[in-house]
Amino acid sequence: MLWQPALPEPYQTLTDDELNRGIEQRRRDLGDDLLILGHHYQQDSVIAHSDLRGDSLKLAQMAAHEAAQRGTKYIVFCGVHFMAETAEIVTENSVQVILPDLSAGCSMADMADYDDTVIAWERIQHALGDDSNCRVIPITYVNSTATIKAFVGQHGGSCCTSSNADQIFQWAMEGGTQPKGKDENIKILFLPDQHLGRNTASAFGLVTEVDEAAGKGATETVIYDPQLDDGGLTDQQIRNAKVLLWAGHCSVHKLFRPEHIDRIREKYENQGGIKVIVHPECSKEVVDKADYSGSTERILQTISASDTGTNWAVGTEVNLVNRIAQEQKQRDIHVVTLNECQCLCTTMYRIEPKNLLWVLDNLVEGNVVNRITVPEDVQKLAQLSLDRMLAKVGAAQENQSVPAQT
Ligand code: SF4
Repeated sequence: MLWQPALPEPYQTLTDDELNRGIEQRRRDLGDDLLILGHHYQQDSVIAHSDLRGDSLKLAQMAAHEAAQRGTKYIVFCGVHFMAETAEIVTENSVQVILPDLSAGCSMADMADYDDTVIAWERIQHALGDDSNCRVIPITYVNSTATIKAFVGQHGGSCCTSSNADQIFQWAMEGGTQPKGKDENIKILFLPDQHLGRNTASAFGLVTEVDEAAGKGATETVIYDPQLDDGGLTDQQIRNAKVLLWAGHCSVHKLFRPEHIDRIREKYENQGGIKVIVHPECSKEVVDKADYSGSTERILQTISASDTGTNWAVGTEVNLVNRIAQEQKQRDIHVVTLNECQCLCTTMYRIEPKNLLWVLDNLVEGNVVNRITVPEDVQKLAQLSLDRMLAKVGAAQENQSVPAQT
């Protein structure tokens, strides 16, 4: 994780009103030179100043499109580090991408380190020995560093998002960049989120370690843990597995547990019941118990399209849940968080209006602070992994975001 030095003193003492007025003045000063992006999990006081809001990849792609149209010079990404890297990869070289707080990282992305991934790849190839019928295709969730995306691009793999992981799994199982041979044995290495990987494998009918523990047969998924010797796996386990799941997770979505679903259903039993929708970064046990699972965009769409008078419990980051609750109240739709223990993305929460004003003040004075850059060779390979995903699912499908409501 990068380190953010303390902001100069004036920014620590400004009132909310002063911060808001300052930011809006800077937005006017910078005009089309500036585009501010707000991730769905960002707090309202930051979202209020964003030009676009959405989830990570869609936001980066929309920004690339908007920046080209407007001739934008600076994108200020109110999200986390990997999101700013993705924006840097997909935008023109003339656009500079800025993260208002350098310590806004992502615990999940940080769990897949480049060197560990190289070691894992060699470990897996060693376990497979000279089995020429066996091929491993890496897939990385877009919530990963640019170097992991580049590794995956370099080794014939693809990126995926939480809304297209199933299509990318299908692509890989059919052979990925080259058609699957008649007797070829394809394995997937899924980084860095074990839960999205396991939930997707399960949707394809594979037996997971969770199913095995429940007595449903021998597992076809295994966890590769870079903290353990040999990844915690024997050669035989690697050879038997169809999907190798990296031992990463989201520190927010892991807070949702199956018992939360039991409790909320019980609570609403005499109030017309409640529907439960969760993000696929939640554990398989939670996803299996929920009524629906889907990406943040899918969660928004599903609740927006639901009947008035319905109740919803949502298993994702609390800032988004509270915003949906506010927006849906007027339609008499009641939305609550699945876990009342404030499931907050604490790293994203580091970006506050004062950070935003500080970077904008600097831009007006001609100083670019907190610029996020990605080396050109890494960009090219990372772009390859993104291009393979877009070639499979179509850019249009991944290219929607919600205009910010300011
Ligand atoms: S919610 Fe989880 S996956 Fe998303 S940025 Fe925060 S820590 Fe990372």
